[in-house]
Amino acid sequence: MANPLAPRIRLFLGDITTLDCDAIVTAANAALRGGGGVDGAVHRAAGPDLVRASMAQAPCPAGEARVTPGFRLSARFVIHAVGPIFRDMTEDKKTLAQTYESSLSLAAQHNVTSIAFPCISTGVYGFPADAACEIAIDTVLDWLRSNDKPDVVTFCCFSQQDHTRYKKRLGELGLAE
Ligand code: ADP
Repeated sequence: MANPLAPRIRLFLGDITTLDCDAIVTAANAALRGGGGVDGAVHRAAGPDLVRASMAQAPCPAGEARVTPGFRLSARFVIHAVGPIFRDMTEDKKTLAQTYESSLSLAAQHNVTSIAFPCISTGVYGFPADAACEIAIDTVLDWLRSNDKPDVVTFCCFSQQDHTRYKKRLGELGLAE
């Protein structure tokens, strides 16, 4: 059955820096210094002003997020979200959900219309991908049920496996495209 939130959810496979969204989220580290993975791609695409703007707001503990302009990106904002380094499922699940919530809350404060998330913490931070997918989707849906902004949330998967995983979960919830 179709889910009423379906018009507000999208799924994308590819590089988040190519998305034409009002805000893109990067999986940052606490020092907000730029790094590898998605953060490296975002910093390369946004140009050197991004690291100056993000480091000025460091440190950013796990579970929190900071916002900067998008500089050379087409996105108006970059939201620097710091996920947990995976160690303990019970604790880290909560922190990962908080990371998504903090990002959505910042986006809403800035009246963001569309936002794209990478699969936070599932790269070098080692969070198991199935659990991370479930937390990402559940947290975003909870947010959208009680908030008007952002209008649209895109889950940006960089691997075919993640894309398949998200598609399956969204399909079970009546949110497949
Ligand atoms: P973390 O340190 O939070 O684990 P990573 O950047 O190592 O962050 O990985 C987070 C996710 O981002 C992984 O699923 C990885 O495949 C994905 N990723 C890497 N590069 C990009 C990109 N250019 N666009 C979107 N997602 C990306």
